[in-house]
Amino acid sequence: MHPLQSLFDGNRSWVQKMKAHDQTFFDRLAEQQAPEYLWIGCADSRVPATQITNMLPGSIFVHRNVANLVIHTDLNCLAVMQYAVDVLQVKHIIICGHYGCGGVKAALMHSRLGLIDNWIQHIQDVAETHATYLESLKDERTRFDRLCELNVIEQVRNACQTTIIQGAWERGQTLSVHGVIYDVADGLLRDLRVMVSSPDQLNSVYHAAVEAIHQGGAANRPSQAET
Ligand code: ZN
Repeated sequence: MHPLQSLFDGNRSWVQKMKAHDQTFFDRLAEQQAPEYLWIGCADSRVPATQITNMLPGSIFVHRNVANLVIHTDLNCLAVMQYAVDVLQVKHIIICGHYGCGGVKAALMHSRLGLIDNWIQHIQDVAETHATYLESLKDERTRFDRLCELNVIEQVRNACQTTIIQGAWERGQTLSVHGVIYDVADGLLRDLRVMVSSPDQLNSVYHAAVEAIHQGGAANRPSQAET
C-alpha cells in the first residue's frame, strides 16, 4: 500500500463531498483566486487557517512558519505579503498565534534545538522587550500564555512597519492588520483587539494592545463569536 494512501483516500472523499455540495466549485476555483484575507499563522499542525475559520479554499491566502513571525529580512514572508497586498489586493492581514505554541515555549525555556534556535531568537527578543512584565508573573503557564499573545502583537507591529504595508497605505489602499490568538484546547479564536488600518494608528493601537495584555490578556475572554 502507498505510504500516503490515507491522504489520497481523504482527498478523493473530500472532492466528492465538495462536488455533491457544489458541482461547479472546482471549475470556479480553477479560473482564479480572489481571497480577501492573508493569514500569517504558526506551522503547528493543529492550526489550519481555512479549517478553523470554516472557510472554503480560495478565501484565505496563507503563510505559516514556526511561531507566526514577521521578520523584516525573511524574503519568504515578505514575498507572500507583497503578492497578497499588491497583486491579490487582500483587505485584511491576520496574524494568528496560538496558546501552547512550541516555538514560544522553546524561547521561554531557552531550549537548544539546532538551527531553529536562530529563528526562536526573534521570540526571545519579544520576551526581552517585555521582560519586566513577564518576570512579574509568578505562574509559568500565565507567563507562557501572555508571551504567546505579546508575540502576536509584536508581529502585527512588524508587519505594519514593512515597506509593503506602508506603501499600500500611502497609495490609499484599504488594508487592515489584525492580531488574533487561537486556543487549541477549545478550538476558539480570540481577538487581541489590535487592528491597524493606517500608519498613524500603529503606535496607539500597539500600546493599547500591550496594556490590555498587562491587564490580563485574552485567555479568559470569550471568543469573538460569543461577544
Ligand atoms: Zn506554534
